[in-house]
Amino acid sequence: MYRKGKLYFRYGTMGSAKTALLLTTAYNFEERHMDYMCMKPIVDTRECTNVIRSRIGIERECRWIYATTDLYGMALEMYRKEKRIVDWYLIDEAQFLTAQQVDQLARIVDDLGSNVVCFGLRTDFKSNLFEGSRRLFEIADTIDEIKSTCNCGHKTIVNARIDSEGNIVSEGAQVEIGGNDRYVAVCRRCWRNRRIEQARRGSLPLVFDEGTEQTQEVTE
Ligand SMILES: [Zn+2]
Repeated sequence: MYRKGKLYFRYGTMGSAKTALLLTTAYNFEERHMDYMCMKPIVDTRECTNVIRSRIGIERECRWIYATTDLYGMALEMYRKEKRIVDWYLIDEAQFLTAQQVDQLARIVDDLGSNVVCFGLRTDFKSNLFEGSRRLFEIADTIDEIKSTCNCGHKTIVNARIDSEGNIVSEGAQVEIGGNDRYVAVCRRCWRNRRIEQARRGSLPLVFDEGTEQTQEVTE
């Protein structure tokens, strides 16, 4: 039997209720007796309970995706052992998938006819694409944005990393495990203004360095 599935990417900034949306989708599937499975890349290996949880209070069990997990292989194995082809895969934190894993998801869609819905962030705290998100933008069938609003009223774009003094952090690893940094989703304009303001106070010299570098490139 040929089934036609799709690879979806639903992206947003932090706090845009992506996980809540995933969980309400799962709930709706249950109501309609539809077959689905939740999955999530595991970033912090100290995590031991395999659940997806949201601030609205619902949670669902999920299967962990490790950096080495072959997702297509896993789906085939499930078919061989249980004759099961999952109708809908719901994937949280899809930005943490490897590019290869996104390709494997595409194969699950194309060869097995499952639907795969990936929820995730577009970019990191430096406003650069995550590996998984980049690949999803490249090959997903359907892409849509889950919008949320900055304090100023504009749409949020950047997930700014904030240190204990409330300053925007611009250096460091893409993923901080167990760090004390917080994140705040802001619009592009507020992000730039805050960095300029910090640079004036001397706590963030990078904004102007970037500009100088660019000028040098042009004149050389
Ligand atoms: Zn703003």
